[in-house]
Amino acid sequence: MAHVVIVGAGQAGAACAAKLRALGHDGAITMIGAEPAPPYQRPPLSKAYLMGEMEEERLWLRAPEFWAEQDITLRLGAPVTAIDTAARTVTLGAETVAYDELVLTTGSTPRRLPAAIGGDLAGVYTVRTLADVDAMRPEFAAGRRVVIVGGGYIGLEAAAVAAKLGLDVTVLEMAPRILQRVAAPETSAYFRALHTAHGVKVMEETGLDRILGETRVSGVRLANGTELPADFVIVGVGILPGSDLAAAAGIAIDNGIACDAYCHTSAPHVWAAGDCASFPWKEGRLRLESVGNAIDMAEAVAANIMGADTPYVAQPWFWSDQYDCKLQIAGFNAGYDRIVTRGPEGEAVSFWYFRGDDLLAVDAMNDSRAYMVGKRLIETDRSVAPEVVADPATNLKALLKA
Ligand code: FAD
Repeated sequence: MAHVVIVGAGQAGAACAAKLRALGHDGAITMIGAEPAPPYQRPPLSKAYLMGEMEEERLWLRAPEFWAEQDITLRLGAPVTAIDTAARTVTLGAETVAYDELVLTTGSTPRRLPAAIGGDLAGVYTVRTLADVDAMRPEFAAGRRVVIVGGGYIGLEAAAVAAKLGLDVTVLEMAPRILQRVAAPETSAYFRALHTAHGVKVMEETGLDRILGETRVSGVRLANGTELPADFVIVGVGILPGSDLAAAAGIAIDNGIACDAYCHTSAPHVWAAGDCASFPWKEGRLRLESVGNAIDMAEAVAANIMGADTPYVAQPWFWSDQYDCKLQIAGFNAGYDRIVTRGPEGEAVSFWYFRGDDLLAVDAMNDSRAYMVGKRLIETDRSVAPEVVADPATNLKALLKA
């Protein structure tokens, strides 16, 4: 039976390995990961784990014995440095490992600020790995001042944790509004108000000139010349897909490792899934950065290695926790031309994205029913009239029976 080698022991890698066994693959499986930790989930890194409310073991995707029980060989702390698609081998250290099928689940790396503007000073952090968060966690003491560069979900989640722990928090966003890249103005306004109510200073349309300090952060200077003191800085300005290894091996790249509808790359016997991979979507290509996509795409790879020959049909979903707000997002909002608001009803409010008559996505705050109904409608390619959604008298669940 085929030896499947998986490069990247994260969310997608773990899902692929487990699914291969669940589908009856009885050949060898080797999963190689650059990080020393066993496969773990990242979402709590900017939520409960950062808050100090979760033990490291609870991040692990499987109990340590699972991998041996499933006869999956884990090689941790072992970055793969090269792929030879002709010889069908990967290189780690001085060693060469042969594969029959290769799965690339190399995730992504956070964008960093250049050293020339202070990006390499002590006290500047990114939030991607367990090691990143373990390093920054001691900085989170009440009364300290943190500047968060970037008002995306990860920056805002870190801001929420810092505010809850009593820090003095400033969020800098270069764009006219936080969450601009991923959400409608209504969702941005909701989270701006939420953070402001918790004492966070949200500075939009505010560029960063540089981080100040000799060897360690002492503050930041804004593009308008204003200087803000800071004890530490968190940079949350997006990620770069982990595609360098594939690119060096001559595998086609297009916003990440370019896959076809079956999650196959341009090289024979090489597949990709998760944050590092883009795939055909509507008239173009899409790359998603979410747990749901990492699992579903990785499981699609496993099924196709087992001969399913089934295209991957992404059903995007995402969540974010900030203070007492649980945001759940169903669908993908690109191309929307209309937003409809449902609520607020108590703590619950939802924003529904339409293009013409088509429902594209729903952002639901503390409203799991709106999320669930929106998700089901989108997944089954159904829509609903915008006025019906906005009408508080509408029984959302009844829409699923229509
Ligand atoms: P990863 O889980 O990053 O795994 C990739 C692994 O590959 C890494 O361990 C990396 O070290 C390894 N690797 C890379 N190159 C090599 C190499 N050459 N050799 C060996 N190993 C290599 N998503 C949500 O849906 N909801 C959330 O609330 C949410 N919150 C998040 C909060 C944080 C702080 C972060 C960082 C992410 C969050 N995400 C969330 C996104 C989600 O965690 C990612 O989309 C998901 O982890 C992607 O899985 P992956 O397997 O593609 O990548």
